[in-house]
Amino acid sequence: MSNIKTIGVLTSGGDAPGMNAAIRSVVRTGIFYGYNVMGIRKGYEGLLYGDIDKMTPRSVGDIIHRGGTFLQTARSSEFNTEPGVEKAVAIAKVFGIDALIVIGGDGSYRGALDLSKKGLPVIGIPGTIDNDIASTEYTIGFDTAMNTVQDAIDKIRDTAYSHERCSVLEVMGRKAGYIALNVAISGGAEAVILPEKEFNIDRDIIKPIIDGRNRGKKHYLVVIAEGIGGAIEVAKYIEEKTDIKTRATILEHIQRGGSPTVYDRVMASRMGAFAVKLLKSGSANRVVSVQNGSLTDIDINDALKMKKTINEDLFELSKILTL
Ligand code: ATP
Repeated sequence: MSNIKTIGVLTSGGDAPGMNAAIRSVVRTGIFYGYNVMGIRKGYEGLLYGDIDKMTPRSVGDIIHRGGTFLQTARSSEFNTEPGVEKAVAIAKVFGIDALIVIGGDGSYRGALDLSKKGLPVIGIPGTIDNDIASTEYTIGFDTAMNTVQDAIDKIRDTAYSHERCSVLEVMGRKAGYIALNVAISGGAEAVILPEKEFNIDRDIIKPIIDGRNRGKKHYLVVIAEGIGGAIEVAKYIEEKTDIKTRATILEHIQRGGSPTVYDRVMASRMGAFAVKLLKSGSANRVVSVQNGSLTDIDINDALKMKKTINEDLFELSKILTL
């Protein structure tokens, strides 16, 4: 591993605020330690088509405050095939890339694992707003996405209070309810519906709203994770059952954009540097992970076998605080 001279970096899967800070950190830390760093555009797709440029410290200037990823990202179906992976390794060789740092989610880690099996050393950095990667407590973009949702909730609450309405908010998270659960607590929701938890609409949504009304509440918030969906239908059902005017808001991609929070910028900067240092120390085929608040690394194969569970204490707290 000590013969690594050139590191490639790419972002893959869904974009997340803070990815730019991670790329910037990989580029600048890499150059600081004497490596060449190559930026690969559009994820594995760009690797397959040689959409690759040498990075300098200035290539990553003026990006730390921007959401999205300046290298852009893509979902590549060609890469998901064995010939695709072989071609990607061959192209990396043509560009002199000795090791690759992949910033993305579980799908991107799977692609990285495939590359490692064909002889290209890889390091994964967790980047996805959903925080749904089992091998880490934190993923780049999660804090910014939650703050974007919180900002929307505060605005919706103002109007919901004025009109004594109920608001149903659908937030991102296909298989994971981390955004939903956290913003339910920070936004003071009466009910939260998560993909990880079975639910009953009368017991888990209608009853808390009616109980809340009986305790003198004047407005109501229901948070639903994207994986459950159906915010518009749920809103109609609430109105039918309770006679409370109800509006649905589906936030969709607004949650993916925006300037990253301080926390995301710092975490992304730390993770980028950590990934470079792993390569420097001779490690390969590892993913960067946050455990008990500290950065560590895990074998990529083991990381992909882990299962993430919802924080039960947080879920219970979300119910108690509706009192
Ligand atoms: P997010 O969770 O934000 O959507 P992700 O990294 O999980 O991010 P995916 O779309 O699942 O996003 O994966 C990104 C890319 O990684 C895919 O387009 C594909 O090129 C590659 N990839 C995904 N799954 C696999 C797999 N099973 N094997 C090899 N490569 C994969």
